[in-house]
Amino acid sequence: MTMKLTTDSSFVFYSLPGRVVFGEGCLATLATEVEALGAQRALVLCTPEQREVAERVSRQLGERSAGIFDQAVMHVPIETARAARVRAAELGADVAVAVGGGSTIGLGKAIALDSGLPIIAIPTTYAGSEMTTIYGITEGGVKKTGRDPRVLPRTVLYDPTLTLTLPVSLSVTSCMNAVAHAAEGLYAPDGNPIMSLMAEAGVAAIAQALPRLCHHAQDMAARTEALYGAWLCGKVLGHVAMSLHHKLCHTLGGSFNLPHAETHTVVLPHALAYNTPAAPEAMARLARALGSASAAQGVFDLAQRHGAPVSLRELGMQAADLDRACDLALQNQYHNPRPLEQAAIRQLLQDAFEGRRPSV
Ligand code: NAD
Repeated sequence: MTMKLTTDSSFVFYSLPGRVVFGEGCLATLATEVEALGAQRALVLCTPEQREVAERVSRQLGERSAGIFDQAVMHVPIETARAARVRAAELGADVAVAVGGGSTIGLGKAIALDSGLPIIAIPTTYAGSEMTTIYGITEGGVKKTGRDPRVLPRTVLYDPTLTLTLPVSLSVTSCMNAVAHAAEGLYAPDGNPIMSLMAEAGVAAIAQALPRLCHHAQDMAARTEALYGAWLCGKVLGHVAMSLHHKLCHTLGGSFNLPHAETHTVVLPHALAYNTPAAPEAMARLARALGSASAAQGVFDLAQRHGAPVSLRELGMQAADLDRACDLALQNQYHNPRPLEQAAIRQLLQDAFEGRRPSV
């Protein structure tokens, strides 16, 4: 997995702070972790669907639980963020414990952005938000994203037992979402050998875990490996810039309301095929991690073999909207290993719409 350094290799490395507690049953350490932050009153955040697990978390906290706010939803509407901030203030909370996927952790971030409240994240999907300073809040139908160090969780508890309930279909697309972070990390302009190590190891862990997890959703060893891979991929997302793939997914999710993890799953093979001629070393490492001859085909096969959607059509995208999606994705310039070429990106979207297996 090592990278060959040459005399003109130079890079900058930094690491965001944060404590990670990893392992089966580590939820049991939550009260100690709250105490270690010097906090007394934790507000537990969750979606309405995950109320039960939030109650378990609240019980773990004992007298340090201030209550539960169970209204987290996708894309963090400003109204929900405001209601959660009010609830946290009313209860005198001095820490937020976000148990759930990117939507719930995103709500925690929206509270922290406003109040500086520390967050303990307990991820139950593979999306990786817990490892980043990136936040998003939707106001008047527009999702604004930004980076702020205040929203980075102070402590993250990765307990794979909490992922056992994640439906297999969502597990697959969420894993592909994680793979997307690592894939773009491998050709990031501000990448470095350490991030590339994490990216490759993260993808390899996920590629090895997915078949076992799909065969038996309760396979604890597979769940552990997948969560470990997701952590590494999330770490990469938190440290280096993303490129064309994330831009396309942001556009498709934001302007056409396509579902987050599924959109990443469908677009990734095509974004990688587009970038293949311009990023040979990144693609070789990714292919190696996937155990495939080609990075783009490898991610396509990984998704398709495990029953994930492979076309934008399946996600409800309209063919008539592809031109507009292409224009929106090209509105601002951003880094990408291969220059952004209008006709080729329009073709990329067409391929993704139809769910074609990449030819490279
Ligand atoms: P999600 O948080 O929206 O969860 C999807 C559904 O699955 C919810 O109903 C949730 O309650 C349920 N769920 C989650 N874990 C479960 C489990 N273990 N068992 C049963 N049900 C479970 O999905 P997501 O893909 O994790 O997050 C997507 C959101 O996160 C998007 O809005 C995306 O933009 C954001 N995100 C942000 C970052 C960042 O760095 N800021 C990174 C990745 C994703």
